[in-house]
Amino acid sequence: MVAKAKWFLKEAQLRIKYMTSIDCIFCKIVKREIKSPLVFENEKVVAFDDINPVADTHILIVPKKHIDSVETIGEENGKDILEMFKTSKLLVSKNKLSAYRLTFNGGKYQHVSHLHMHLLAGDKIQWNKL
Ligand code: AMP
Ligand code: ZN
Repeated sequence: MVAKAKWFLKEAQLRIKYMTSIDCIFCKIVKREIKSPLVFENEKVVAFDDINPVADTHILIVPKKHIDSVETIGEENGKDILEMFKTSKLLVSKNKLSAYRLTFNGGKYQHVSHLHMHLLAGDKIQWNKL
């Protein structure tokens, strides 16, 4: 009972702080309900390897705040978006990537409805699978 109350309190705090959505897979990673190993984390973003990579390097950079897609970005998300790009810069440098692509999918190409940037590198990027 106490454990359930603690979970409920933590869930409520995260929902207020990051506007996390209960059914969203990336919100679950943010809340550590899904234990995807993180390659980077700070106050505003997490980054982790894509579970189904389409390139030698395929990292997802995800704002902790739940934003649905590029279409729903607003002024209030400015710092979250900036942090995504700063994280991409850091990971490019950390992984010594001399050539890379940063991609956002939208509409029918977007399968997870929580904004995310794909950092892709390597000779054989399988664009048809992204
Ligand atoms: P998109 O099609 O742009 O929405 O991309 C969503 C990406 O999330 C896909 O490349 C998936 O392979 C990836 N993905 C889905 N679930 C997970 C997960 N649990 N951990 C890591 N990557 C995931
Ligand atoms: Zn989410």
